[in-house]
Amino acid sequence: MPQNQFDILIVGGGHGGAQAAIALRQGGYAGAIGIVTEEAERPYERPPLSKEYLLGEKSFDRMMIRKPAFWDERDITFRLGERVTAIDPAAKTVATDTGSSIAFDKLIWAAGGSARRLSCAGADLAGVHVIRAKADTDAILTHLPEASHVTVVGGGYIGLEAAAALRKLGRAVTLLEALDRPLARVAGPELSTFYIEEHRQQGVDLRVSTSVTSLHGEGGRVTLVELADGTMLQTDMVIVGIGISPEIAPLQEAGAVCENGVRVDAQCRTSLPDIFAIGDCALHENRFAAGREVRIESVQNANDQANAAAKVILGEDARYDAVPWFWSNQYDLKLQTVGLSSGFDDTVLRGDPADRSFSVVYLRSGRIIALDCVNRAKDYVQGRRLVLEGAAPDKSALADDTIPLKALIGG
Ligand code: FAD
Repeated sequence: MPQNQFDILIVGGGHGGAQAAIALRQGGYAGAIGIVTEEAERPYERPPLSKEYLLGEKSFDRMMIRKPAFWDERDITFRLGERVTAIDPAAKTVATDTGSSIAFDKLIWAAGGSARRLSCAGADLAGVHVIRAKADTDAILTHLPEASHVTVVGGGYIGLEAAAALRKLGRAVTLLEALDRPLARVAGPELSTFYIEEHRQQGVDLRVSTSVTSLHGEGGRVTLVELADGTMLQTDMVIVGIGISPEIAPLQEAGAVCENGVRVDAQCRTSLPDIFAIGDCALHENRFAAGREVRIESVQNANDQANAAAKVILGEDARYDAVPWFWSNQYDLKLQTVGLSSGFDDTVLRGDPADRSFSVVYLRSGRIIALDCVNRAKDYVQGRRLVLEGAAPDKSALADDTIPLKALIGG
């Protein structure tokens, strides 16, 4: 009989769920902790799915967040391959798709998001993939030997990373972005322009302002992508990277305040008593977004919110207030981002993109709010302090590559 009662039940065994359990035990929590999660695997790192794992450069074993013995030694119970379908906040139980009811004293909702799919005709043909879970990348790898031409839909980080990996694997790649530049939601035009040129030089047929109207197939498998202007592109596989929808339906049905995510306060509490939410699904006020409510889709956010929620449960006076950071690897380019650039009204470029090592510094009302650093670890490390203190340095000094950013701290 699986265990049906936990002091703390965590829904979702991804980055946030795993870290919440780790932080609770690290903080000395001795009660029963259970993690119920839809995937078949214990917690693993998701970022390599569009990078090293897709490339065959990292084995799944090396992506495990902790070895199996770690969880067993700390008495953290997993219910794998099980999906929570409903929450009864008054009875303090969840229902799952196996027909079980699991009781909890406190619930941490860490269910992340599901990859959005195309809604056009042909979207459900075989050969149309997303990348969110190990099973998705495994499905791509299974069919890749028969695919010489892959179409990537969406120029966000996952689409661009997939395109880079597939070029490295020798496939012909077409990347279609509906807006007038890739990364439009997360970065400024300088970075988009750089990545457009980089991908084109690497042989990707990258097209902007181009939307897909339908997919066509033969024998149930995708063979053609039809674009809004009537163009037909031959393809053997389609990878869709057009964002995620937060996994919040059971919380919403239970009465939690939700919009584009479940709303949480600085202590990661939802509007329902004893129910916390963390990670990709959690909509929260963030001072690095000028106090706006945001959902942040990053490992940093999932881990730091998990740490905050664990501390609150342990009775500490914790708040989630961490500086956001993110990374993306494409070809030999390592992008590191600190802060949130949305809402910027000015940018300063440090270095020359032609050297494939530069930073874009984002400012709002003269203050630094974020940096995108390409092959520039020093700017990233030193720029973090500038973001934290909302520094307002002289712009010519900021642009002067011979002046290290740390010299501008406190300026
Ligand atoms: P997840 O890690 O998605 O975990 C949620 C878990 O909950 C999943 O296992 C899911 O199956 C399960 N679940 C969902 N609904 C239910 C339910 N109802 N019942 C039970 N279980 C459920 N971030 C970075 O910072 N850097 C990167 O380079 C980067 N690259 C990425 C590349 C890819 C391909 C992807 C997909 C993501 C990447 N991210 C990256 C984002 C990062 O992985 C996420 O922000 C992070 O995983 C969020 O953690 P989470 O715990 O909120 O959700």
